[in-house]
Amino acid sequence: MAICKWDGYPDLFITFTCNPKWPEILRHVTSRGLNPEDRPDILSRVFKIKLDRLIKDLRDNKVFGAVKSVIYTIEFQKRGLPHAHILLFLHEHNKYPTVGDIDQIITAEIPDETVDPHYYRAVKSFMMHGPCGSARKSSPCMQNGRCTKHFPKRFTESTTIDEDGYPIYKRRDNGRTIKKDGIDLDNRYVVPHNRFLLLKYDAHINVEWCNQSRSIKYLFKYVNKGNDRATTAFSISVQEEGSSVVDEINMYYDCRYISPCEATWRIFKFPIHYRQPFVERLSFHLPSEQHVIFSDDDPIDEVASRPTVRESMFLSWFETNKTSSEARELTYAEFPLKFVWKPKLKRWEKRKTSAFSIGRIFFVPPGTGDLYYLRLLLNVIKGPKCYENLKRINNHDHNTFREACFALGLIDDDKEYVDCIKEASSWGMPSYLRQLFSMLLLSNSMSRPENVWQATWQLLSEDILHEERVLLANPEAELTDDELKNRCLQKLEKVLKSCGRSFHDFPTMQRPLYNEEEVDHNNRLIHDELRYNRRSLLEEHQ
Ligand SMILES: [Zn+2]
Repeated sequence: MAICKWDGYPDLFITFTCNPKWPEILRHVTSRGLNPEDRPDILSRVFKIKLDRLIKDLRDNKVFGAVKSVIYTIEFQKRGLPHAHILLFLHEHNKYPTVGDIDQIITAEIPDETVDPHYYRAVKSFMMHGPCGSARKSSPCMQNGRCTKHFPKRFTESTTIDEDGYPIYKRRDNGRTIKKDGIDLDNRYVVPHNRFLLLKYDAHINVEWCNQSRSIKYLFKYVNKGNDRATTAFSISVQEEGSSVVDEINMYYDCRYISPCEATWRIFKFPIHYRQPFVERLSFHLPSEQHVIFSDDDPIDEVASRPTVRESMFLSWFETNKTSSEARELTYAEFPLKFVWKPKLKRWEKRKTSAFSIGRIFFVPPGTGDLYYLRLLLNVIKGPKCYENLKRINNHDHNTFREACFALGLIDDDKEYVDCIKEASSWGMPSYLRQLFSMLLLSNSMSRPENVWQATWQLLSEDILHEERVLLANPEAELTDDELKNRCLQKLEKVLKSCGRSFHDFPTMQRPLYNEEEVDHNNRLIHDELRYNRRSLLEEHQ
């Protein structure tokens, strides 16, 4: 997220999958009478070499133009092959803003076999989705009778961008097909890709243009999703007569599933997450509250008098500001752009190369008091030499960080809380935001909570429509703003009730309404019976 703040949205999303039939792998295993999956170490090593090369092509050889930053995450398929999800952030003058630009780099059509036979074969081997749907219901992409990857796509004469900002790639109905598993697949089944990368790397490489308007956190959630888990059950096959006690807790183990490839990847200490440029986590603290690390039996006098106690990352920032005029041009978050933290020396030094990292100041929620206000000041004030400098606004000294924030206009009219929820929404899921809002209510932090609610309800209820659509198994279901607000208030009320309070305690806040049908969400039978969208039915029959 720190990279997004600095770079804006990523431009391209690339998925690169290991090909077990790469000649480098086959050469090794076939001469030994083995199959590729017998040597996960070889698969991992070769994939890492090719991935490094691909990143070099993207970043240094600028296949898609000058690159500002690269992030990737490695995942392992169930049967074990590694693949990389890569996010590419391009320089401002190397973006692909028009559909014509997208056509230059991304294709989703079958090439002409006679004109470009190599390319044709590569698309046939790696870039055709399916068969799935009615042709093969057992395909792994199928769920509830539908392809989860939404194939087949629609034929379109030219590339367009839909109203939600998603690209629809050109797929002409030109009669070209590729036979896979005895079924003819046409342009509707081509996975979007780039010809150069496909031919060079001889593997499945999906290249997608990123939607620039949708909230970025969902993309990151996908990139950073956790390990595969498998729930394994152990049961006793022969039940002893009369022994009716079954320890259900012991019967189920939530196991983490690691494929052989993942195991070797980790043994080799290859990165699972990669970021370039590096993100420096910036610590900060209130006066005399820095962290001190010591052993149990260290004498306390000695610990307190250690010279390093006075040299935290944060305090060294003050020190650097005293001597360097260049340092004083920067806020704390901007500092790692030009200075580098030397953990061994406990000080910041001027960068000697053009390399840099992006600073990220720890998030602290409101309610942590002074620390929260200190952080607000750090976002705006440049070059302070001591804590007092931070509290000095327009040549006027203030007693607390909070007063200084007031003087700067950072916390007028509950603005701080609206800003805080907005900031947290760039990385936090709506459920977290609702907890944050409830916490602000419970701590009586906001002077006019109804204003904060008005300004942020859309962020707090971002997941509700999606939830409804899943529940109704209808991707086109809609909810009105009032319905969304009401559902969100219901969820907030649940959080409040878990803390022994309710909206009755906050008279200025709108209260949730409860429909009789909505009361018992826990009863599956009733719920299943009520699984229809009253709104769309009303529209249909009016
Ligand atoms: Zn499918």
